[in-house]
Amino acid sequence: MAEKKQFKAESKRLLDLMINSIYTHKEIFLRELISNASDATDKLYYKALTENISDINKSDLTIDLAFDKEGRTLTVTDHGIGMNKEELEEHLGTIANSGSFKFKNENESDDIDIIGQFGVGFYSAFMVAKKVEVSSRAYGSDQGYTWVSEASDGYEIFETDNLPIGTTIKLYLKDNTEEENYDEYLDQYHIESLVKKYSDYVHYPIKMDVTTSKKKEDSDEYEDVVENKTLNSMIPLWKRNKKDIKDEEYNEFYKDKFNDFSDPMKVIHTSVEGNVSYDALLFIPSQPPMNFYSNDYEKGLQLYSRGVFIMDKASDLIPEHFRFVKGLVDSQDLSLNISREMLQHDRQLKVIADRIEKKIQSELKNMLKKDRETYEKFFKNFGLQLKFGIYQSYGMLKDKLQDLLLFYSGKEEKMITLKEYVENMKEEQTEIYFASGETKEKISHLPQVEAVRDRDFDVLYMMDNVDEFMIQMMRDYDSKAFKNVAQGDLNLDSEEEKKELEKINEDNKSLLESLKEALKDKVVDVKVSNRLKSHPVCLVSDQGVSFEMEKVLNAMPD
Ligand code: ADP
Ligand code: MG
Repeated sequence: MAEKKQFKAESKRLLDLMINSIYTHKEIFLRELISNASDATDKLYYKALTENISDINKSDLTIDLAFDKEGRTLTVTDHGIGMNKEELEEHLGTIANSGSFKFKNENESDDIDIIGQFGVGFYSAFMVAKKVEVSSRAYGSDQGYTWVSEASDGYEIFETDNLPIGTTIKLYLKDNTEEENYDEYLDQYHIESLVKKYSDYVHYPIKMDVTTSKKKEDSDEYEDVVENKTLNSMIPLWKRNKKDIKDEEYNEFYKDKFNDFSDPMKVIHTSVEGNVSYDALLFIPSQPPMNFYSNDYEKGLQLYSRGVFIMDKASDLIPEHFRFVKGLVDSQDLSLNISREMLQHDRQLKVIADRIEKKIQSELKNMLKKDRETYEKFFKNFGLQLKFGIYQSYGMLKDKLQDLLLFYSGKEEKMITLKEYVENMKEEQTEIYFASGETKEKISHLPQVEAVRDRDFDVLYMMDNVDEFMIQMMRDYDSKAFKNVAQGDLNLDSEEEKKELEKINEDNKSLLESLKEALKDKVVDVKVSNRLKSHPVCLVSDQGVSFEMEKVLNAMPD
């Protein structure tokens, strides 16, 4: 008898959540299992192609569904790469190892959000099953194993002889309750509709024995006929005509493939024919993945060659400043044997990557123009990435990205572009005024901001740490220099006002001198100024590093 093992702590917690089913779409368990079956088949097929293994035929690589009404079971079988004992243990015993789950910030949000941020993966089976049995034999291995779990009390693994290569997952459905009728997962029409809804594009046939009532030949009688039917169309979504694809299909595809709970904010579907041909399906998530600003986050697109999956997260396909984009590229011009190292030098791939970058850029511009509200949401989520792009490239990306930036306008009290700022500049205004601070409120009350606003000039509010560093790299926009209102001379005064100010400074010379003497370790100079409106004093920094930048620099680890 095999020993009973406990799930790792975080797996157990997630399992409890699954079982207590905070998740409303229980039916997605089928999509998750089919998607795993398809991934496993991809791995085997890829191996067969690249290693010239001749006894693997694509036509045999079906995904088979079967249900048993009496036993109340539903099974999903694949003929993919399979799992050995260690893999069963590692992949199914520990959620931390599942690509879908990473519990990083335990206290960041509540459990429901943790689930929501990622796909639900294998464990979703426990939303509908009281017991799950996984039988598998890995390709190249002689011995098969079965992993069984009734969720909360851990799992067992034991040897099973005579298993074919691949994996069978058998679900023992939960008992029906008043709220939930699990028998629907034993209904062929319902299963068929779920496959259509969530897994239609899977490029292996998903087959099931389907019983239909047919009229007997030369008779009025009907008889039940069983046929092994392919339930999915198998046409990859990206190969289909855009016009025929419903939003819902894109959304479901995205959520399934890229482990997100929310619909994408933007779908970009593009097909290019020419020197280099490819289809790309790109998505901008509606919120940053939980690990987006951590080192764990890996950018990149999935890469396919003629519909065959080559690799996940090919990072050279996406520039750093668009690292939030998820999706895939399928090209007939790429070799199947291409490795990550080779990708960097592949000319075709460079062309594709360039085009994709341009496409994303133009789609974002379009969104800004036509759907401002959505764009502002986008910018809130990912604008920081664009700013870092300009800063980290030492301004080389300025031309590409500057018109995608938004800043809070003190005058308009909303987010505006630099173009809009310049268009609304006053005739006598030559510079773009900005001020830095932590919040809108704090900036609005800066004496210098009041002074500039008093003359009806607009001021852009810089509230992200990177802002001023980026502005330094940009220097100007449309030949108008950026001017920090808290730095140096603002030159707002007329000649007359300047003269008057000089006189006041002269008249109060001895007072100013003694103030300067008293503050001599803290300030360089003390002046009477026209900057002030409702405040008695203000600090002004010299050109160069501003107060706000100094704060950021001081906060950085050495
Ligand atoms: P993900 O698919 O995002 O990695 P899952 O929880 O769905 O996460 O699956 C966890 C892991 O279990 C997979 O990465 C894979 O290694 C393994 N696995 C699951 N189902 C199968 C299967 N049918 N055949 C082979 N391996 C599988
Ligand atoms: Mg999965």
